[in-house]
Amino acid sequence: MDKTHFNEQPWGIHWFRRDLRFDDNPALSLNLERTHGRTVGLFCFDSKFLSRDDFSHRRFAFFIETIKSLRQDLELRGGQLLVVDGQPDEIFTEIVRQASAFGPPKLVTFNRDYEPFARERDKRVTALLQGLNVDVVTERDHMIFEPHEITKPSQDKSPYQKYSPYLKRWLARFHEAEGRRRVSPFAGATRRGAKDKKMFKLAWADVFESIPEKLSDRLEAFQTQNIKKFQGDLPPAGFAAAREQVAQFAKVLKDYARDRAIPARRGSAELSKYFKNGSLTLAHVIQDLKLADVEATDSTGPGKFLKELIWREFYYYTLYHFPKVEQGAFIEKYRELKWEGGDELFRKWQRGETGVPIVDAGMRELAATGWINNRVRIIVATYLIKDLLVDWRRGERHFMNELIDGDLAPNNGNWQWVASTGGDSQPFFRVMNPWVQGKNFDPDAEYIKRWVPEVKGAAAKLLHEEEADRSRFNYPAPLNKHSVQKTKAIDLYRREGSQEQT
Ligand SMILES: Cc1cc2nc3c(=O)[nH]c(=O)nc-3n(C[C@H](O)[C@H](O)[C@H](O)COP(=O)(O)OP(=O)(O)OC[C@H]3O[C@@H](n4cnc5c(N)ncnc54)[C@H](O)[C@@H]3O)c2cc1C
Repeated sequence: MDKTHFNEQPWGIHWFRRDLRFDDNPALSLNLERTHGRTVGLFCFDSKFLSRDDFSHRRFAFFIETIKSLRQDLELRGGQLLVVDGQPDEIFTEIVRQASAFGPPKLVTFNRDYEPFARERDKRVTALLQGLNVDVVTERDHMIFEPHEITKPSQDKSPYQKYSPYLKRWLARFHEAEGRRRVSPFAGATRRGAKDKKMFKLAWADVFESIPEKLSDRLEAFQTQNIKKFQGDLPPAGFAAAREQVAQFAKVLKDYARDRAIPARRGSAELSKYFKNGSLTLAHVIQDLKLADVEATDSTGPGKFLKELIWREFYYYTLYHFPKVEQGAFIEKYRELKWEGGDELFRKWQRGETGVPIVDAGMRELAATGWINNRVRIIVATYLIKDLLVDWRRGERHFMNELIDGDLAPNNGNWQWVASTGGDSQPFFRVMNPWVQGKNFDPDAEYIKRWVPEVKGAAAKLLHEEEADRSRFNYPAPLNKHSVQKTKAIDLYRREGSQEQT
């Protein structure tokens, strides 16, 4: 390629983060439009993250598969994705420096992220790029309504703390013309030119004489490194796989309200892992499942499902407006609760050796697959906090280490909900009984027997009764008595005053 000629034309970088797809990608589309296809893709992964205490090798393995699928989708259209090891600040500085002969990029685009860490980073990187005379343009992508768009109608426009009024406001906006537009078929360049094999007209090799060491591609090295830590099965990754999952789920959507909580049936969508990486957005799902016209009062499958999607938005919203939740309880007085449950109990919970069959089944499924349904998450989390009296933040971190869909906002929000410490949460005096939960949601113990094989020969009744003797199955007795622990848990919160005085 004639670099002198090319040099005179603007080119751009699309910085991928949690929008790992080519299809219907707003900021990528904008980049392609403004640069007439002279766009290259970049992903920065800082290998320091590998030692973070909320890191998950399984999630990282799935992320790598997602990146590979994205790379393929870009290459099909002549595009490129460079995966580098480093902080975006230093990487962009290096790119601009090394591209000086060719000419610096005119434009960097990215889709907005709302986590506290990401917002700080994006502010910093934007200032840096602007200082280097690079335009920065960002787009809304993974939320239908960004956190600042939903506020109380009151004068001060303060944020909601509770889900119900937030939901009402969200649905009202959703039914306005702008809400409709946001879930209408995408009209950007990546949709219009999806079949264009030469859509991308620039390669990284055009920009640099030779790729500098700091900007060399590290995807394979990351994969090799991670494979030493995780080698289990993974679900299919990427946009096409996510779309296929939506198509499969469409067949059982009508039964969602009934089956979503029954672990033996797997009646939920299993889409969270795709949302997490941005293989898919809520808008795709709302379109594909025709949820835009669902009435607010609808309590059948589609209505219930839409409201679950809105829970996801609510937790991003909460983290955005109340970033303190990342550090601990939303309700200040519950920040220093004195948890008596120690390491031994915590380890038994992690390993699924508590002697409570539904809890052990859940924890073993989590360890084996990286996913459990929402009801089972609530059961095991409640048990850890209210029966074992272990600090909920240890459970929150363990979930991040295990979950394939582990995601700060919904994980933290849900743990706070269960722990009764959130802005909207389960009242502390309503303590769920795991034995009753097991009976209600796994009456025939089909799920329990799938994951706790040593009790395969036991009658379901025996697995749902706290007092029953299960020792002949070589299965441990429960670690403690639910009614005793429940009283202790309530006392623990009560000592800090009633929940209403926040
Ligand atoms: C203790 C605990 C920890 C959790 N940690 C996470 C997490 O790290 N990442 C995560 O994505 N979800 C988390 N959830 C929420 C929820 O359990 C999962 O999103 C859901 O089980 C994913 O499976 P699905 O896609 O089949 O869900 P479906 O029931 O099919 O729901 C569809 C989508 O709605 C959203 N959704 C459903 N329920 C919730 C909820 N309670 N809160 C927020 N969004 C919801 C998810 O995006 C989900 O993919 C957690 C829940 C609990 C109780």
